[in-house]
Amino acid sequence: MQQIDVVVVGGGQSALAVAYFLRRTSRSFVLLDAEQHPGGAWQHGWDSLHLFSPASSIPGWPMPPTHEETPSRDHVLDYLTRYEQRYGFPIRRPVWVESIEPHPNGLLVKAGAEAWLAQAVVSATGTWRHPYTPRYPGQTLFRGQQIHSAQYVNPEPFMGKTVLIVGGGNSGAQILAEVSRVAEAHWITLADPQFLPDDVDGYVLFERATERWRAQQEGRVWDEPAGGLGDIVMVPSVKEARTRSVLRAVRPFERFTESGVVWSDGHEIAVDAVIWCTSFRPALTHLEALGLVEPDGRVQVNRTRSVKEPRVWLVGYGEWTGMASATLVGVTRTARSTVQEIEVYLDQRER
Ligand code: FAD
Repeated sequence: MQQIDVVVVGGGQSALAVAYFLRRTSRSFVLLDAEQHPGGAWQHGWDSLHLFSPASSIPGWPMPPTHEETPSRDHVLDYLTRYEQRYGFPIRRPVWVESIEPHPNGLLVKAGAEAWLAQAVVSATGTWRHPYTPRYPGQTLFRGQQIHSAQYVNPEPFMGKTVLIVGGGNSGAQILAEVSRVAEAHWITLADPQFLPDDVDGYVLFERATERWRAQQEGRVWDEPAGGLGDIVMVPSVKEARTRSVLRAVRPFERFTESGVVWSDGHEIAVDAVIWCTSFRPALTHLEALGLVEPDGRVQVNRTRSVKEPRVWLVGYGEWTGMASATLVGVTRTARSTVQEIEVYLDQRER
């Protein structure tokens, strides 16, 4: 059993932002990441995935500029790889953390034959490992292909097919934009998709989130225009799809059949494949033994600190762990305040 001040579970952008601030303290720490390589979820993004804002960085070393309008998946991966090398963070890969358990002298972090006894744990495991797919009647009868956007790579396998793309966020819009070039694509969303104006990029969404956060801190009412991080950013591929008039979404079908779906007016169409762009849930199986995961799949937190187990912090999962914390540019704020809280906690313990 290795004794250490802080274990960070994860090795994506959130874990690296936390590591940046931990490195500036005198605390011992390690990052345990299940992936083989750096970059977290970005390794699994589809081939054409681009950031929806210009270069966007975690603390310290900024993302190098790119010749493209917005950085590509590979540019982000290269940045995160070089970032962790630059700071020489202690990262162990691949290490899958199975559970975290209470121990008389701290928290026991278990991964296969290895274990760490930590005084504090930061969970930064993101959502990619927990894709969410809604249930529809007859779904198990359907003999066609079903994948989640987490497994989507490029449009090639769908060439000439009839494909349903389900989900009204950025994944749905971007995947529809390219699949519709090679296949008969139907876009299915629960409500009308929310498109942002053409001149609004992901950075503006972050600024709005910041303003919302400030207003909340100061007890002000925030009534600026809609624009959540889930709204659709008009990246070039989505604009191009608009020129082909394919950005039209319809409301969900009623049920699956063996070979397709039935719409609410009773008519049936044959479908070859369904791509579920229906988001993700926090990947928190390692916290189940501590009894922290609530029925809604989240953990009760005060800022980023677990209410039930105050030696555990959660970083990067979305608005509930800090405004815009699931973005490169947004995670810095919560990573900084998390490490400040951990420092205070460890100092008090030692007194
Ligand atoms: P991840 O990158 O998922 O990293 C978590 C790591 O923890 C992974 O390596 C995982 O394998 C590991 N892990 C999980 N469980 C365990 C365990 N039990 N033990 C050990 N390791 C574990 N973000 C932006 O900032 N800007 C954008 O423009 C942007 N555009 C996007 C566009 C689309 C269409 C999509 C889908 C996402 C976009 N994102 C964007 C979001 C971004 O990809 C993710 O929010 C980000 O990767 C989350 O980082 P993370 O470090 O929190 O989690």
